Amino acid sequence: MQEFSLIEHYFTRHALARDDVLLGIGDDAALCQVPAGQVLVTSVDTLVEGVHFPLDTAPFDVGYKALAVNLSDMAAMGAQPAWFTLALTLPHQQADWLAGFTQGLSHLAQQYQVALIGGDTTRGHLTITVQIMGFCPPDLVLKRQGASPGDEIYVTGTLGDAGLALKALQGEIDLPKDALEQVLPRLHRPTPRVDTGLALRGQASSAIDISDGLLADLGHLLAGHQLGARLSLPALPLSPVLQHLPTALTWPLALSAGDDYELCFTRPVAPSAQVSQNTAQQLTLLNAHYIGTVTEQPGIICLDAAGHTYNAPSIGGYQHF
Ligand code: ADP
Ligand code: MG
Repeated sequence: MQEFSLIEHYFTRHALARDDVLLGIGDDAALCQVPAGQVLVTSVDTLVEGVHFPLDTAPFDVGYKALAVNLSDMAAMGAQPAWFTLALTLPHQQADWLAGFTQGLSHLAQQYQVALIGGDTTRGHLTITVQIMGFCPPDLVLKRQGASPGDEIYVTGTLGDAGLALKALQGEIDLPKDALEQVLPRLHRPTPRVDTGLALRGQASSAIDISDGLLADLGHLLAGHQLGARLSLPALPLSPVLQHLPTALTWPLALSAGDDYELCFTRPVAPSAQVSQNTAQQLTLLNAHYIGTVTEQPGIICLDAAGHTYNAPSIGGYQHF
């Protein structure tokens, strides 16, 4: 198949239509309309085979994850995702692989109504780059900077599942088959918390998505202000699989494993009991869990159920260079 018919066959015909796409795939560049009064929010993420996903990952999952990690960046900014481009480098043309990849990508594109508006197709080591674009009113964008001492710290979903799945795939941890089946989707098909990000506009004082582990990413929220945090280990949200592991495994995974793509955010303490009750309900709806407080003292302190300090062993994030 020629390059152009490949693009037409696998990408153009699956691209979702949006009214704000004035010109999509097919020209030298795409034209998109940002709503009046809003700013363009844009981010790019690359997945390299063998680095960001294991060699034998199903093509559906590769397509799914390539878009999911980018949607997660939109979520962390409180942006409404709208459009994306795809730069695809393939070692060879493989119809099965491309069909599966496109299905995974389109599945998530449909779900979040984001349109593929262009890209590039080249030959080489399997590498997928998605650039995502969305919009947000400029005064409502969520940033990493903005936390203050006393702010409450929250995370969505559950922590450590993706890291556990990866360690099991790599043979570092022995997991029963049913447990592995429960955590594998968390590694291959992370849930971008787009709705939570939108609901947090004007509510959160700072936000980040957790790609490198809670301690590392929470550290990014605090570092700019030279603040610290006190975290309650029993408050960390854990899936049933993690709850049943020995704590010597659970806590390092929940605190330091990457790839969960949950949101971590801070918010000022609610001023009155009434507001507090409403926001508690709202946060439950958002699947957000209170895990600790921002402190003036730099450094992150983790306390166990007995109130003892727990020194998290570093399991080290992936360093590209
Ligand atoms: P150019 O030579 O101008 O860079 P290309 O031949 O690379 O154009 O691409 C032709 C059209 O197909 C462009 O509109 C481009 O955005 C689109 N395109 C190329 N590869 C992809 C892809 N993998 N996914 C979506 N659109 C693509
Ligand atoms: Mg090109």
